[in-house]
Amino acid sequence: MIGTSNGPGPSDIPYWLDQADAPNPLPPLTGTESADLAVIGGGFSGLWTALLAKERDPARSVCLLEGRKIAWGGTGRNGGFCAASLTHRLSNGFDRFPGEIAPLERLGRQNLFEIGQAISRYGIDCDFARTGELAVATARWQLDGLAESADQASALGADVALLDAGQVRAQVNSPTYLGGMWDRDGCATVDPARLAWGLRRACLSAGVRIYEHTPVLAIDSARHRLTLRTPAGHLRADQVALAAGAFAPLLRRLRYYIVPVYDYVLMTRPLTRPQLASIGWANRQGVGDSGNQFHYYRLTRDNRILFGGYDAVYYYGSKIAAALDQRPRTFAALADHFNTTFPQLDGIEFTHRWGGVIDTCSRFCAFFGTAHGGRLSYVAGYTGLGVGASRFGGNVVLDLLAGQPTELTELEMVRTKPVPFPPEPLRAAGIGLTRWSLARSDRNDGHRNLWLRALDRAGLGFDS
Ligand SMILES: Cc1cc2nc3c(=O)[nH]c(=O)nc-3n(C[C@H](O)[C@H](O)[C@H](O)COP(=O)(O)OP(=O)(O)OC[C@H]3O[C@@H](n4cnc5c(N)ncnc54)[C@H](O)[C@@H]3O)c2cc1C
Repeated sequence: MIGTSNGPGPSDIPYWLDQADAPNPLPPLTGTESADLAVIGGGFSGLWTALLAKERDPARSVCLLEGRKIAWGGTGRNGGFCAASLTHRLSNGFDRFPGEIAPLERLGRQNLFEIGQAISRYGIDCDFARTGELAVATARWQLDGLAESADQASALGADVALLDAGQVRAQVNSPTYLGGMWDRDGCATVDPARLAWGLRRACLSAGVRIYEHTPVLAIDSARHRLTLRTPAGHLRADQVALAAGAFAPLLRRLRYYIVPVYDYVLMTRPLTRPQLASIGWANRQGVGDSGNQFHYYRLTRDNRILFGGYDAVYYYGSKIAAALDQRPRTFAALADHFNTTFPQLDGIEFTHRWGGVIDTCSRFCAFFGTAHGGRLSYVAGYTGLGVGASRFGGNVVLDLLAGQPTELTELEMVRTKPVPFPPEPLRAAGIGLTRWSLARSDRNDGHRNLWLRALDRAGLGFDS
């Protein structure tokens, strides 16, 4: 059931942002200011970049400009799976960067560990828990993929266990599960808005100046400096870190590398004790199923279930609009899938439903680059797995601005770009055909049609 039994129906506000102690926005930039480093974007990418810049050099003056409010974008709307993977899962990393998957996995694990350290050091109350993650098979054809993933992960030293149907149901009790893989240390769950607000506070304490409701309209390049134009002011900066996610890219080239894809989420009301007991879930792992169109779900601090994914919706012309945050058809499908997954919770109400934009690129993990003679560096393209990887991205962006080769800047992942998307109408047609083919593959025991096989051969295939 979507809605409350006798209340006004679910809230359209993302659950994470709907908290009584959400900070009030800071005033917008007015007049002219200067900084050594300007950061554009107040999501995880921008916040980590600003904070890491101050950690590296407390004397550096850093200013962060956010067009709306901190965490307004994907950062405040996501599932809160904070994964070690930098490559949108190991199998995608193996396909894209077979020669450097071992260092990428090592750097990813180190990044996740350092996120935990930073959360403790700055005293951020955000329910960060190293629960691990359970990948479940809900169709027989998915079992082979899980076994292969478990082998790959074990070979790289990850703590994973392959579970049969009984074992996986003993973790989380759903009649749909046929098997699973429990990655015990590769993922944490977190309240993403509280993490972002905590990073905001840490940035302010470190001396970062933050302006909210300050969209950067243009970047002007003079000889030694860049000037960011905003509605009521200017910010002159020696260097700029662009971390604006999927939104109207300020650099023309980014329009070809990323497309905004909408992802949708439901949140239940808190489960009662008997309801939770009917599922088990004592280890509180994040769960993802293994179809091409996959769902992800997890518990919150007060034992609600967040349930999202499945439909990934692209709107013609790379459209982004507030009205698209709501999609009743997808919410109804998600509610139906939720009931199939947990029939023992039949009738539970959903209190929140929302959508958000994912900065999707054709290789499904972040890419990086510089512009304006090396005075600007950017990161984009996390494709739905940037909660953890965005801190790594912040370090890469700062290394690129420093201009000296480092372990990070020498990675193939950092030196190469994804294949660009074609312009419309080919863009919408290609994405539509891929979506249709993936859904068909799920219905046909994972069989990949000619189009998907051609994408696989071109290195553009998505295997969840
Ligand atoms: C529904 C959903 C579920 C997801 N689930 C997960 C998950 O479970 N795990 C995971 O790892 N990832 C998930 N993601 C992806 C994850 O949220 C992002 O990868 C991550 O938050 C990185 O954010 P970001 O800072 O790069 O972008 P955003 O959070 O989108 O931040 C970009 C910010 O830049 C600002 N901005 C844009 N243009 C300008 C401008 N011109 N001037 C000033 N400011 C500007 C925007 O207002 C925005 O606040 C999910 C995303 C969605 C939408």
